[in-house]
Amino acid sequence: MPGRPSRAEHPSPEQARPAGLEWIVLKIAQRCNLDCDYCYVYNRGDTSWLTRPTYISDRVTRRLAERIAAHCRDRGLTEFVVELHGGEPLLLGRRRMQRLIDTLRGICAPAHVRVMLQTNGLLLTGDWLDLFARNGMTFGLSLDGPPEIADRHRVLRGSHEGTTERLLDTVAALRAQGPLFDELLGGVLCVVDPAAHGGELVRWFADQGFPDIDFLLPDGNRVNPPQGWTGPEPYRRFLLEAFDAWYGGGPRAARVRLFELMMLSLLGRGNSLDALGGDLKGLCVVESDGSIGISDVLRICLGPYAHDSLNVFDHPLDAHAGHYRLDELQRPCATCLACPHFTSCQGGYLPHRFDGTSFSNPSLYCEALYALSARMTEALETDLPAAAWQPEAA
Ligand code: SF4
Ligand code: SF4
Repeated sequence: MPGRPSRAEHPSPEQARPAGLEWIVLKIAQRCNLDCDYCYVYNRGDTSWLTRPTYISDRVTRRLAERIAAHCRDRGLTEFVVELHGGEPLLLGRRRMQRLIDTLRGICAPAHVRVMLQTNGLLLTGDWLDLFARNGMTFGLSLDGPPEIADRHRVLRGSHEGTTERLLDTVAALRAQGPLFDELLGGVLCVVDPAAHGGELVRWFADQGFPDIDFLLPDGNRVNPPQGWTGPEPYRRFLLEAFDAWYGGGPRAARVRLFELMMLSLLGRGNSLDALGGDLKGLCVVESDGSIGISDVLRICLGPYAHDSLNVFDHPLDAHAGHYRLDELQRPCATCLACPHFTSCQGGYLPHRFDGTSFSNPSLYCEALYALSARMTEALETDLPAAAWQPEAA
């Protein structure tokens, strides 16, 4: 799963509040062994991946490391996060992966580069887990649920064969080797298919031993809607089913980052999750050719948003915020600012707000997010004494 910051590590509310750029998503491989129908890299109209090197080169890695080092020096940062994405990042191979990590850490020292990775898991082996452990890395796994749900979308490139049974077998084999798989697994990313029952899916993940999950709404907007889009209602139903199962699940329930962060917002803790209108200035995407972009999911908006005009050779890393006018782009619209659920929803994910000319709109998923926020507010009002939480409209 490319794109958004992964669940390679479940961030604490504090971690989810970047003050400036301190995190990059690094696209180290532009190819993937899967061909998921919802994938914004390959199947949503943007073809920029075809123009980039298949794998990141040592030259780009070194220049990127120099940029990170300079950024950390200038900002007084002692740590910087590099999250490895693809396509499928494991296609890089272990030898090149180790060299990449050594280069980043060698050049950036004394600042520490924390490395995380998001994978579809099919190429995972015990040797990969050893590499992660040696390098203090965590990883996030992309898994949309049981085969009858996930195989509708997550198929092998070329053969269109389902992949989920194979992934679950891989997970079982790695777990049989010892505790490393679960120790290094930061969480599971699940793209919502509203054909599924949200509550059953929450319970399935718990039964499979995945205690940290997150739901992603499929990427799309008013001019480039998700495949099979019939409106937000199926997503509203799914999210409410999932929330009810999670909230009522007791200690056995998996953590669901989307729900946790929305509820923490309602309790006055705030959040900067990108899917909930978080400030994208804390993050940029660096492609295998060294191009610097905002969230690469914005490429589903096509036009100028599918073209990067900055790169690590000519520009500092945090030039992206000014160059792409991020403050202006991500400013919530008047409808969202007046919404009683703005605290928890914050207008939703930026690429989902686009209408062909501007981002100054509620999310494509507005009705679903509104209903979810309302359900959460109701739950808090029912279960907590009034003094313990901060109502949204207050
Ligand atoms: S695993 Fe699927 S969603 Fe992720 S990069 Fe490959 S095709 Fe895209
Ligand atoms: S629920 Fe809708 S109107 Fe309210 S903040 Fe979210 S996207 Fe905006």
